[in-house]
Amino acid sequence: MKIAMYDGKPTLVTAKGDQLWGTAITSYTSVDDILADWNNFQATFLLNLSDQDVLNSDSAELLDPSKLEAPVSHPRQIPAVGFNYADHMKEMDIKLPEKPNVFNKFVSSLAGPNNSIRLSGDTVDWESELVIVIGNGGRNISREDAEDAIAGYMIGQDLSDRTIQSIDGPSTQFTLGKSFKNFTPVGPYISTVAESGDIESKHVVTKVNGDVMQDATIDKMIFDVPTLISYISSIIELYPGDIILTGTPSGTGVGREPKVFLKSGDLVESSIDGLGTIVTKVD
Ligand code: ZN
Repeated sequence: MKIAMYDGKPTLVTAKGDQLWGTAITSYTSVDDILADWNNFQATFLLNLSDQDVLNSDSAELLDPSKLEAPVSHPRQIPAVGFNYADHMKEMDIKLPEKPNVFNKFVSSLAGPNNSIRLSGDTVDWESELVIVIGNGGRNISREDAEDAIAGYMIGQDLSDRTIQSIDGPSTQFTLGKSFKNFTPVGPYISTVAESGDIESKHVVTKVNGDVMQDATIDKMIFDVPTLISYISSIIELYPGDIILTGTPSGTGVGREPKVFLKSGDLVESSIDGLGTIVTKVD
């Protein structure tokens, strides 16, 4: 199942050919509320629900994708992982990490799947990433229990001002350099773990103005999804509704020769097979 915020309402979404159909969930006011009640929602609501049930519902409607909003709007934390694809490390000329490199994206940088940004400078760059949505939080979650902690997956962009990011040396200021307004668009919906299938074989793809700039499978991550959840939760408590950006593959603008950065009028599309597409327009 896919779960979205659509036109201000939490909505179950299913694909039918090229179309998205949805039915509003009336017993909750937001996906944030659903995630705060994830165990119960799963057991009483989601467990016996099929895509056909969504299509057959009296309230089913054809969705206008431009009305999809950020599925989550108030995660308490947005941990993000740097240096998690070896080929991206190579293009950044940085040695492989021994443990996941974790920084924070501020919640105020969150945006929806139909996003636009203003350039903060002339070195703003794209990064497309798999995003983990936490359903059941906790501390010291083992690799084996990691999947039970996950509500689902989304696509995210970790938009980055490379000058601010490295103002006092390489990658010294990740948190602020990646937290300008609308620098963390996510969506277009949450695909549950069951819906997502084999996450490792999926491609993370970035297109800028239609040209493919990044394309890598998720199994190229240095630290996989269970390892990230296990390691991060060994230090901080993960709360229901938290989202984790898992790092970006090679093909960023800063890694190119010559370097390329975003300019006014550019369109950045990020997609992962089966999880949809999100778009950022550069004003
Ligand atoms: Zn990133």
